[in-house]
Amino acid sequence: MKYFIFCQGDILLTSEGAVPFGDCPPIELKPWEKVTVLKNSSPRGGWEGAVLVASLSAPVTNRPDLQMVPLRKSFHILPAEDYQLAGKCAELVYFHQNSKFCGVCGGEMRWQTEISKQCRECGKELWPSLATAIIVRVTKGDEILMVHAHTFRDRHYGLVAGFVETGETLEECVEREVWEETHLRVTNVRYFASQPWPYPSGLMVGFTADYLSGELQLQKAELSDGGWYKKDNLPFLPDTSSIAYRLIQDWISQEQ
Ligand SMILES: [Zn+2]
Repeated sequence: MKYFIFCQGDILLTSEGAVPFGDCPPIELKPWEKVTVLKNSSPRGGWEGAVLVASLSAPVTNRPDLQMVPLRKSFHILPAEDYQLAGKCAELVYFHQNSKFCGVCGGEMRWQTEISKQCRECGKELWPSLATAIIVRVTKGDEILMVHAHTFRDRHYGLVAGFVETGETLEECVEREVWEETHLRVTNVRYFASQPWPYPSGLMVGFTADYLSGELQLQKAELSDGGWYKKDNLPFLPDTSSIAYRLIQDWISQEQ
């Protein structure tokens, strides 16, 4: 069994940088720290055996054979398959912590399947809710639109992105977000790829689009800077773990 054990956004790994594996957990887990047990159900295969998900109330600090690593940093340490599974487990921890009681009657929620809960009183079923967001690579000739948001923790520039609102299609969301953030209109909105984004429970849906019309006018409340960039003059790029990086890299590799 593999053990995906978390504490406040950090994941417990061995000192060599692997997910702990074996017949028993690498540390003693209190009954309430165990969250759920997953079995592989992906038609693509992937991981073998069961996975125990746990959430600690305090980080592990006294074990030289173990380390706590921020989940985002684990992208650069773990094999891709383990990183994605860690994200799923982290989302289930988030779901568990935010669904103790029923939103309908206030009753106690108990695990029903390995990824869902049910109210003991009224029977309401609950699954983790995903915050779906779009991210879009807008290009104009040989230039790409890149922006820096106030919320970015470093000086990198990313792509226009935002959460999907109820009642809108993904394509409408792309057009609305570009309009709100830059006052530009786009056309040719096309799907690129998607990526689970477990910070804390999201799905990023990547698109490409062509500039249609308008003068760039940044939304100051959200963005601190932005503009059109050519390949030989790009700003600091996003982390390689992000779909923004993949979208930009895909554009860089295109011949023009
Ligand atoms: Zn209920």
